Amino acid sequence: MVSLNRLISGHTSLADSLFRHQIIKSPACECGDLNQSANHIFWQCPLFDKERTALLSSLRAIFNTNPLCIEQLLHIMNAKTIDALARFIDAVFIRIL
Ligand SMILES: [Zn+2]
Repeated sequence: MVSLNRLISGHTSLADSLFRHQIIKSPACECGDLNQSANHIFWQCPLFDKERTALLSSLRAIFNTNPLCIEQLLHIMNAKTIDALARFIDAVFIRIL
């Protein structure tokens, strides 16, 4: 839940957040994308394609559609959505949140 709370508050250790707070010099992701945002990590980053498969499968079962942006998902906050997001975070965010 700490990680979800950080996502909600926008105070993550993702590069775009650290860059906004002038802690690092570039918001770029390790994959080469110019902006390592939460939405990049959840939906686009090729470094986490494998972990994303389970997340997308869970979200499609809940919403019967492709995922929303992460800010919208965080506002929905039903138990199944929280569980799906938390599992993805556990799988990929250990070193960056
Ligand atoms: Zn990336």
